[in-house]
Amino acid sequence: MSKIILTGDRPTGRLHIGHYVGSLRRRVELQNSGEYDKTYIMIADAQALTDNIDNPEKVRQNVIEVALDYLACGLDPAKSTLFIQSQISELCELTFYYMDLVTVSRLQRNPTVKNEIQLRNFEASIPVGFFTYPISQAADITFCKATTVPVGEDQLPMIEQTKEIVHKFNSIYAPESPVLVDPQALIPEDEACKRLPGTDGKAKMSKSLGNCIYLADTADEVKAKVMSMYTDPLHLQVSDPGHIEGNTVFTYLDAFARDEHFERYLPDYANLDELKAHYTRGGLGDVKVKKFLNNVLQEELEPIRNRRLEFAKDIPEIYNILKKGSDTAREAAAQTLSEVKHAMRIDYFADEELIKAQSEKYAR
Ligand code: ATP
Ligand code: MG
Repeated sequence: MSKIILTGDRPTGRLHIGHYVGSLRRRVELQNSGEYDKTYIMIADAQALTDNIDNPEKVRQNVIEVALDYLACGLDPAKSTLFIQSQISELCELTFYYMDLVTVSRLQRNPTVKNEIQLRNFEASIPVGFFTYPISQAADITFCKATTVPVGEDQLPMIEQTKEIVHKFNSIYAPESPVLVDPQALIPEDEACKRLPGTDGKAKMSKSLGNCIYLADTADEVKAKVMSMYTDPLHLQVSDPGHIEGNTVFTYLDAFARDEHFERYLPDYANLDELKAHYTRGGLGDVKVKKFLNNVLQEELEPIRNRRLEFAKDIPEIYNILKKGSDTAREAAAQTLSEVKHAMRIDYFADEELIKAQSEKYAR
């Protein structure tokens, strides 16, 4: 069986370092590993509209921002198909058929949807499109028969929902030879990368919460954000013992710092464990740790930022890449949709046996 990657992002803002450690960094490694037959990367504009219906311009403007972030991080259109969700109308058709396989109560139990409804204060006014987006996400994952979906931890319930749809579809419509492929989520092993917190210490760095360090931020912006980051509120004096748990600066170091960074920027310590031990003992100030984090982040982000500026010099070419990618994705979607319709027996005009049987019935 082919090994196929699908993943994507909502164009609700530029991408941030949470996306980077949660999914982007991994995607680029997988793309370059040579182990996968195909890689599809989707800009989920239609999904972004489900909770931004009053602000379509935001979604429209951010498509190119996300594409630039992709290219800057090393996603390569020669190896990966970069495409825009709304341009693949077959996804709507798949979603419509999958809707019959999911109950309202099952959607209501989805923890990610629950959490996001709360976050957006939707309460009684949840758009139906938003409520059902896990179903459309199943269409996104299955149209290309994806086997592997590299995402952050918050997406696990979505993959679970997709698996249920796949199993139900195959068992009802294609029990002999399955049409849809069961996808596996690939989440980061590192705890800090599964769900990177915001610079304000909130549970998740998220475009919608404004607590992000963006991949496109300038060196000065990154530094200012790092220096004002949330740490340990009980660590008032340098001599006080500090806490690592829930201390965002250390969580970011968990996600980004490697031993060689200590050699370069903080040679008094061999590694992160030594730095943590000193902080916990007391006698290590927040400013010193933040300066180190700033150095580490700058080293990782500078090449990304520079590549982004290079790609931004030819914006028409970026749209061209997305158009080509969308054409490729549409071909794959049309193929899967025709298999789905065949399995569901709604391919009337291609079914000669049906036409013959009906003719015979009326000839009698
Ligand atoms: P929005 O607030 O519009 O939902 P978002 O910042 O949550 O935006 P998404 O486009 O929903 O970003 O998520 C894209 C991918 O990035 C998903 O795989 C998601 O799991 C991952 N991701 C998003 N935020 C984080 C984070 N803070 N830590 C780790 N992974 C993340
Ligand atoms: Mg999100």
